[in-house]
Amino acid sequence: MQHATTAQLISLVVPIYNEEAVLPSLFAKLYEKLASLPLPFEVILVDDGSTDNSWALLRSEAGKHSNIKLLRFSRNFGKEAAILAGLKECDGDAVVVIDADLQHPPGMLVEMVDIWLQGDVDIIHAVKSEDRNAPLLDRVTSYGFGRLFRRITGYEIRGATDYKLLDRRVVDILREMRDYSLFFRGTTLWLGFRHRELYFELGDRRGGKSKWTSLSRLRLGISALTSFTALPLHLMTVLGAGSLLFALAMGAHTFYNKINGEAVEGFTSVILLILIFGSLTILCLGVIGAYLAKIHDEVRGRPRYLIDEKILPPGADESR
Ligand code: UDP
Ligand code: MG
Repeated sequence: MQHATTAQLISLVVPIYNEEAVLPSLFAKLYEKLASLPLPFEVILVDDGSTDNSWALLRSEAGKHSNIKLLRFSRNFGKEAAILAGLKECDGDAVVVIDADLQHPPGMLVEMVDIWLQGDVDIIHAVKSEDRNAPLLDRVTSYGFGRLFRRITGYEIRGATDYKLLDRRVVDILREMRDYSLFFRGTTLWLGFRHRELYFELGDRRGGKSKWTSLSRLRLGISALTSFTALPLHLMTVLGAGSLLFALAMGAHTFYNKINGEAVEGFTSVILLILIFGSLTILCLGVIGAYLAKIHDEVRGRPRYLIDEKILPPGADESR
């Protein structure tokens, strides 16, 4: 069914963490594009515990418009949490999630809404070209991780971004999902539904700097893998079976030598075996530890974020 006849509102969700340098140009660009939408819109700006002047800028912007909702977290909970909070707060028939730093071209949201209005898609994924300005190590690791992720899970996340349009029924499902960490770009692929990809050239940040560190990337990667697959745990069993075969062969060889009265080869092989199997054991413990930490997060059942302050336009539903 075409959405053009029934749709009433488009929501825009923007996660924001220490973006004072880009917020003025973000507002200018966004409002320019939003004004050309064929439907009314609302903007949900989620301040993910910024320590710079972002919140003050957001407040002053909200004072100028009647369709801005502001959320401020009690501390930095991460982008995934900020997106989730935005999805919970929005009322739109379709929701567009976009980064604050203008690396996601705002003009594309108009195209996304036009496509969605035709009624043939529930999710539109914006897929980015390779970021040629990223450090070589980041490019290599993200390429390697993308390949690994597709191999293991079957989902293509190379080029995937958090710039997406979601139909209301998809948003309702995401809101109900209880995963402690959302991994938005992977989960939206996992959901299925009728989807479509739009491609764009990733631009430079318009100010400020990326919030990612090697450690936070690694953490997101581990979280993504552990929430999508238990394969690493099964691989450990395969590794164990391989080691057992090796141990049996070595054992038989040693026993044969002993029976024939030949001296066992020197310490080198013993030391090597201890080092190899010691490292493998610790590595496997690390894999188990990653899943255990995931389970720990899930069973504790702590809130995924805490809202310190909420500023809604007059007449908005305050019950959420
Ligand atoms: N962001 C956030 N919380 C964080 C880190 C980032 O809300 O802890 C927001 C950030 O303000 C921006 C978006 O997520 O709107 C993307 O962040 P960034 O540009 O640092 O990521 P990159 O584009 O380098 O992947
Ligand atoms: Mg960015």
